[in-house]
Amino acid sequence: MRPVFREALEKLADGGRPGREEVLALLEADPGEEEESLFRAADAVRRRVVGDEVHLRGVIEFSNHCRRHCLYCGIRADNRRLERYRMQPAEIVAAARRGVELGYKTIVLQSGEDPWYTRETLAEIIRSIKEWGVAVTLCVGERPREDYACWREAGADRYLLKHETANPRLYARLHPGMHLADRLNHLRWLKELGYQVGAGNIVGLPGQTLADLADDLLLLRDLRVEMAGIGPFIPHPDTPLGQYPPGSVSLTLRVLAVARLLLPWCHLPATTALATLNPEARRLALLRGANVVMPNLTPARYRRNYEIYPNKICLDEDPGHCRLCLHQLVSGLGRRLAAGPGHGLLSGRPDTGPA
Ligand code: SAH
Repeated sequence: MRPVFREALEKLADGGRPGREEVLALLEADPGEEEESLFRAADAVRRRVVGDEVHLRGVIEFSNHCRRHCLYCGIRADNRRLERYRMQPAEIVAAARRGVELGYKTIVLQSGEDPWYTRETLAEIIRSIKEWGVAVTLCVGERPREDYACWREAGADRYLLKHETANPRLYARLHPGMHLADRLNHLRWLKELGYQVGAGNIVGLPGQTLADLADDLLLLRDLRVEMAGIGPFIPHPDTPLGQYPPGSVSLTLRVLAVARLLLPWCHLPATTALATLNPEARRLALLRGANVVMPNLTPARYRRNYEIYPNKICLDEDPGHCRLCLHQLVSGLGRRLAAGPGHGLLSGRPDTGPA
């Protein structure tokens, strides 16, 4: 084991605040002894700090219309080959009801950036779902501050807005017309409004370095996020990045493990993108720091067209079957499905490592 790796790991175990070089040393873990000790440490922190419960968040992908041009994303405005759909508000509420009946305690409303859904339309949907006492997470991209405020007022609990990459030049290149500074500003607004805020990054983007990934993790720590979605890049053939190789599953698992060490209180999903590249990776992620899974509640006839990347898993699964399958996965690991809403754990915690 390299001394620099051992020292970085020990510093984290003692609740220290490692810098960029140390985070890099952890991300560079060699297969074998180093990776094993990294993964063991991440799983131990996960168990000690967030426990054995796995939180399920039922996701409804309610519209694949998008006004953005993100180079990696299959639902970008420029993709003319995609059949577009919008779920009516009553259909969204009905899909959420299905999720509540299946026992999900959090409903995630996700879409492309689609202004068809006005501030008031979404507020009405949120109010309807909140009547059932579940948590509501929004993941609908950048909107005016007034929209965020109105939805918070309507009862939305959480907001997921991934920062995608902490490298400002790479960010600008991948998101025409967008800037990392604006993204961070939106995340700050959401915090000010009292949302439990989630961010996160893509691993293996063309042009991304390991140092960029270290910066992603340090940014997540500085933002004090309650949730971090960390998934591999998956090339979509109908995008400008269609010919690039996908992100590495093993690197994504290392980033996830280091995230657990740096952000002990954070909710970390075993992402769908990871499971799409390798069906076994969902289980591995749960053993390397993850404590959340986000099953799909989108009605079958729309699901195929929410194609942010190709070959997404469980495209034909009935939501009831997904629930059973996840129950089996989680109990097979000696863990259990959470009974509560799984709210953020960070509020009031010190900003250093686990106590
Ligand atoms: N419009 C919303 C939701 C976007 S889709 C928003 O801006 O927040 C949710 C996530 O999918 C994105 O944040 C992005 O990280 C991820 N994603 C999109 N295309 C992807 C691809 N080709 N590979 C991996 N992840 C991708």
